[in-house]
Amino acid sequence: MTVEQTERTDPTERPRTYWLEHAWLGTHVEPDVAVDVTRDGRIAAVRTDVPAPPPGATVLRGLTLPGLANAHSHAFHRALRSTVQVGSGTFWTWREVMYGVADRLTPDTYHALARAVYGEMALAGITAVGEFHYVHHAPGGTPYADPNAMGEALIAAADEAGIRLTLLDTAYVSSGFGKAPDRHQLRFSDGTTEAWAERASLLKDRPHARIGAAIHSVRAVPADQLATVADWALSRRVPLHVHLSEQTAENDACQAAHGCTPTQLLAEHGVLSARTTGVHNTHLTDADIALLGGSSTGTCMCPTTERDLADGIGPAVALQRAGSPLSLGSDSHAVIDLFEEARAMELNERLRSRTRGHWTAAALLRAATADGHAALGWDDAGVIEAGAIADLVTVTLDSVRTVGALPRLGAETAVFAASAADVTDVIAGGRVVVRDGEHALLGDVATALSAAVAALR
Ligand SMILES: [Zn+2]
Repeated sequence: MTVEQTERTDPTERPRTYWLEHAWLGTHVEPDVAVDVTRDGRIAAVRTDVPAPPPGATVLRGLTLPGLANAHSHAFHRALRSTVQVGSGTFWTWREVMYGVADRLTPDTYHALARAVYGEMALAGITAVGEFHYVHHAPGGTPYADPNAMGEALIAAADEAGIRLTLLDTAYVSSGFGKAPDRHQLRFSDGTTEAWAERASLLKDRPHARIGAAIHSVRAVPADQLATVADWALSRRVPLHVHLSEQTAENDACQAAHGCTPTQLLAEHGVLSARTTGVHNTHLTDADIALLGGSSTGTCMCPTTERDLADGIGPAVALQRAGSPLSLGSDSHAVIDLFEEARAMELNERLRSRTRGHWTAAALLRAATADGHAALGWDDAGVIEAGAIADLVTVTLDSVRTVGALPRLGAETAVFAASAADVTDVIAGGRVVVRDGEHALLGDVATALSAAVAALR
C-alpha cells in the first residue's frame, strides 16, 4: 500500500493543500496559487497571490493544468502499437489485424492490458477516459457467466490505475447494412439492441466510473434499432457516443441502403443531442455539419489515429462554429499524448488551409480538459475552480522541450511543445496518482504494458 492510500483511509486526515508555482486558470497563467482539496476529492478553494508554499503544502513546480480527458479509447488497440506500422494498406486492412487481437482477449488479459494502458494515460496527465467498449462476449458470442465480465474488467482497471472511466457500453449487432456479424464480430453482438439494453442496464455507476452508451456506427446498428440505444441513453441522461463518417465507404454504403448520409440517418432516429458525441465526424456534408451543430452534438477528434489510419481531416473548425463542442481522444493509441492530439487538430487545419491560428492554445486546452470531461458526463471536472473534482496535472517548464519560454506562455508551451513525458505530477479526484513522473499506484507501468501486450501475441 502506498503512502497516499494510507493517508486517504486515515479518518483524521486533514484537507490537503497544493501550492502551484504556475496554474492554468482557463484564460491565463496565474503564479503562486494555493489549491485546497477536501477529503472527498474536490477543490475547496483556489487562492491566488500566495507567494510561498503554506506549511505542509505539496509543492508542484512548473505549470499545473486541470485534468486531461481522453474522450475516445479502445484500450486493447494499444497491443497494436508499432506492429501495424509495417507494410501498407487501408483502414480496412488495419481492421483485420485489430480483429486478430480482439479474438484473443479474455476478461483477465483485457483487465491486465487496460490497467497498464490506463496507467500510461495517468502518466500522460489523463484523469478521465471514455472507453468505447464493444468486446462483450466470449469468442463466438457466448456470454460469460457474468455477462458484463469484460466491462467490469475495464472498470476495475481504471480504479487500479487511479483514473476515472466512462464506460461507453457499445451496441454492435450487425456487420453492415442488413448483414449479420462476421466471425470476429460475434463476440461484440448482443443479437438485438433490446438485448444490449438489458445487459447494459445491469452495469452500475461507481464513484470513479459512470456508465454511458455508444452506437458503434450506422454499419453496426440497423436503422430501426438506433432509437432503442438513443432512448436508453437519453432517458438516463448519460453520454451517447457514435463513430460517424470516419470513412467514405461508410457514407457510400449508407447512401445505398437508406438514400441519406449517416448523420441524416442518426438525426431521423433521434440520436443527435447535446449529450451525444460523434467520434471523428470526418467526411461530412454542409447539411451534416448544420445538423450536428444545430443539435449541439459534440465532436470528438482523434487526430493521431485519423492520420495513422489515413482517414482524412475532419471539418472541426466548421463543426465548432456551427455549435458542436470539441473533445479529443487517442482512440487506437498509436500514441497516448493529449498535447499531441490538441496541436494536431490545429496543425492539420494549418496544412489544409495554409493559414495559422484556427484555435488558441486556451481553446485547444479547453477541448482537452473541460469539454472532454463534459463529453464523458463529468461536467464537474476539467477546471481548477472551487467545487470541481480535484484533478491537477503538472507539466515541467524545465525540460529540453519546454524550457525557454516565459511562464505566462505556459499554455502555448504545453500545447505546442510539450509531450506526455513532460507530465511530472497527477492528482486525480484528490488522490496522488503520479509523483515525480512515477505512477504512485502501479509502479512500473512499462513492465506491466510489456507483459500485457506479450500475453496477447
Ligand atoms: Zn474508435
